[in-house]
Amino acid sequence: MRIHELAKKLGVDSKELIKKLKKLNFDVKNHMSSVDEDTAEIIMHEIKTLKHQEIESNVIEVNFPVTVKDLAIKLGKKPSELLVDLMKERKLVTINQNLDEATAIGIAYKYKVNLCKKLSEEDAILKVKANALKERAPVVTLMGHIDHGKTSILDYIRNSKITEKETGGITQHIGAYQVVLDKGKITFLDTPGHETFTAMRARGATITDIVIIVVAADEGIKPQTVEAIDHAKAAGVPIIVAINKIDAPNANPDMVKQQLSKVDLVPEDWGGKTITVLVSAKTGKGIDSLLELILLQAHIMELKADYDRAAVGVVVEARLSKGKGPLATILVREGKLRVGDWCVCGIYRGKIRAMYDDRGELVKEVYPTVPVEILALAGVPNPGDQLFVVPNEKSAKEIVEKRRDEEDIKRIVPSAHLKLEDLYKKVKEEDLRQLKVILKADVGGTLEAVGDALEKIPSEEVDLVIIHKGVGAVNSSDILLADVSDAIVVGFKVSVDPKARDLAKNKGIELRVYQIVYELIDDIRAALEGLLKPHIKKVFLGRARIKSVFKLSKSGIIAGSIIEKGKIIRGTACNLFRGNEVIFEGKVQSLKRFKEDVREVAQGTECGIGVGYNDIKEGDVLDVFTEEVITRRLK
Ligand code: GDP
Repeated sequence: MRIHELAKKLGVDSKELIKKLKKLNFDVKNHMSSVDEDTAEIIMHEIKTLKHQEIESNVIEVNFPVTVKDLAIKLGKKPSELLVDLMKERKLVTINQNLDEATAIGIAYKYKVNLCKKLSEEDAILKVKANALKERAPVVTLMGHIDHGKTSILDYIRNSKITEKETGGITQHIGAYQVVLDKGKITFLDTPGHETFTAMRARGATITDIVIIVVAADEGIKPQTVEAIDHAKAAGVPIIVAINKIDAPNANPDMVKQQLSKVDLVPEDWGGKTITVLVSAKTGKGIDSLLELILLQAHIMELKADYDRAAVGVVVEARLSKGKGPLATILVREGKLRVGDWCVCGIYRGKIRAMYDDRGELVKEVYPTVPVEILALAGVPNPGDQLFVVPNEKSAKEIVEKRRDEEDIKRIVPSAHLKLEDLYKKVKEEDLRQLKVILKADVGGTLEAVGDALEKIPSEEVDLVIIHKGVGAVNSSDILLADVSDAIVVGFKVSVDPKARDLAKNKGIELRVYQIVYELIDDIRAALEGLLKPHIKKVFLGRARIKSVFKLSKSGIIAGSIIEKGKIIRGTACNLFRGNEVIFEGKVQSLKRFKEDVREVAQGTECGIGVGYNDIKEGDVLDVFTEEVITRRLK
């Protein structure tokens, strides 16, 4: 290979290449000199390493986000040059627009600059070196199926452990409370529901140390119980199972234990590792054991915090009070939070004017994991947002401004999640070792079969892990879990809740629903092999609910329907659902508005739909799709 060809391959000037090669002691004369293949390979490697080293050592610090103009100044280039570079990457921006971190670093790299993030005041505050750590109370969340008794257990604990010391009972209710027992303290988060738990995780806040899964002894494990278990497992939080309602006449704790064994939570008394405890929120039986087991688990976990630093906490819930303005319930995780502290929380700042504890009493300072409601912020933050104390108003202001800019960027560039088409590329380039899947199917039998088939797909490089599987429509809790776990969501013969569909779109989550099992398996196998073939993707177009059914002499059975979402177009593919099950697949054959044939009908309108299927019934739901070809993306 000749030197000029090599230079072209490396994207450098031939003269420069010759100079560098001479420095590296390669014997080359001019750009027409040739080298054998092995030498060419070595040269390329050496030059790339050299280039990388040069760039690595050429560090320039910037504050992110950075505008095109500011980046150009830092790089000593004209903004217009950068705009051209960005255009080449199909990014149309103006010179005053902010660039996200990855884009800015990529551009700088082209100019042989290693762009580094200036350690912001915020980072500096959060990275404080730990002082002596002291023990702290565990933070506990109860999760489980609705009506299995989460609230009753929380109320029982609260009433038996708090109010007995209170004269006027509980005056105020906030989203968390702490109980003080002889052997220690426990903080309970009173925001039951695994969706809240995972939504908070998505904001970077896994504040729960222990999850209590509540299962009613008379009903056993339900779909939401499984969801809750999988959400806790995905977060890596230890689980204690409370089998509740043991006082109920048809309570059957052994049945529950058997079911638990099937979801990999084999009870300790059955030879497994899962702590289970029998309780009744009605009679109070077993509640003391539950509390003791929590403390025991906490002790094993050696939970500690730094009590002496500037405080850091997390928002458990927040609201707007008519009289007081924005109020946020904060769980302090590190340090002491005091009245008078300046703080930043989410995109708001403020000085703490007042703090109320879980009994509604004013307090002056709190330490890790005591929950308080604070009156400080200029707005209502989101659950899961971090709160931290800053030295003064000026730094609070600066940090908030920066955060708002970042929020703006996030709105423009949604976070990138794993896409099936890119899986192989990621395996190769980023050392990805696991494909996490959330699997939903129409019935239990199929769910097991599809799950087994997926897990059996051989792949040396990447493990397929099903982090949650369940029966029924894809819901927002599935998408939230996929978001925090960087998983993909795969459905088989199920519908997708409209809210979940929107959420998946906003968060950039890969969501695929299949009607044919081998297509599902083939796609995953192909993705694992980097050979995902072009396929027809069904793009949701609209949903109609059947309100009445009538027969027309010419057109056959017509379903009088209302378009609940999107629109329906004649000729498009459709699935007819009864409950979660697809009972018919076909095409929209006829579409009528008041006896008139029409091509399409939009959301909110009533119409008559014929799909050539006679067993259509009131209450059925018809989903309509367009079909989009997904091109194969190799490499
Ligand atoms: P959550 O939806 O999980 O918060 O459930 P709740 O705490 O609201 O309880 C649902 C229903 O079960 C209520 O009617 C409670 O009174 C009842 N319940 C809760 N715990 C027990 C219990 O230990 N025994 C009996 N018999 N009923 C209970």
